[in-house]
Amino acid sequence: MVSIGAVTRRPRPIVAIDGPAGAGKSTIARKLASELGFLLVDTGAIYRTVALAARRAGVSWDDGPRVTALAEGLVADHALDVYPAPNGSMGVRLSGEDVSEAIRTPDMSLGASTVSAHQGVRNVLLAMQRKAGATGGVVLEGRDIGTVVFPDAEVKLFLTATPEVRARRRFDELTAKGQKVTFEETLADVQTRDAKDSGRAIAPLRQADDAVLFDSSDMTIEEVVSKMRALVEERSR
Ligand code: C5P
Repeated sequence: MVSIGAVTRRPRPIVAIDGPAGAGKSTIARKLASELGFLLVDTGAIYRTVALAARRAGVSWDDGPRVTALAEGLVADHALDVYPAPNGSMGVRLSGEDVSEAIRTPDMSLGASTVSAHQGVRNVLLAMQRKAGATGGVVLEGRDIGTVVFPDAEVKLFLTATPEVRARRRFDELTAKGQKVTFEETLADVQTRDAKDSGRAIAPLRQADDAVLFDSSDMTIEEVVSKMRALVEERSR
């Protein structure tokens, strides 16, 4: 942090990107971070990894105290660590095993959505996310970055698209990976997660008052990234 008169600024900004599932956040955040030369922190991947760890440990996703204890243990033992992957995304390791792909299933989407509704789990992961972003020069993507994790982020972006567009994108992504899902299942999954993420009592998904809204339904990824980048550059001056 440097002080300019009464205003304290980070040398490089924190960029918060929030929004619902399938709005294109991961792709957009990855491209934006790469163009800016910033670190990428994919917070959803961290929740997904806790869900995977719980599944492997035989802990029910609904059991708040046990999932919280498990998450505490993972952080204390440095068993959950993240790293910048060569393709520009964020990779995750669980006890040394690369689980970056294993966490990308519809089952783990649901698991992440369930474990992330426990306050204890959120508290444990909050500290980790703040540490990862504190120095700035970082793009963090998630659901509550601009509202809870970094309410003082220099740039807050909220990315959305209609549920049908988001389900279509998710469906294409999953089928391209060879996963057997139908469009109807994918749409239902998107709607269930929307309802869970927006309706929960703790850190619900909502646009921060000072976030800039982007609707990607009728925009290409490149258009969104270029507009976001212009905004970050403008705020960095
Ligand atoms: O972004 P992604 O789809 O990987 O996130 C998986 C789930 O993790 C979300 O549906 C949401 O429930 C949870 N999540 C969260 N807060 C974040 C990021 C993700 O609650 N900052």
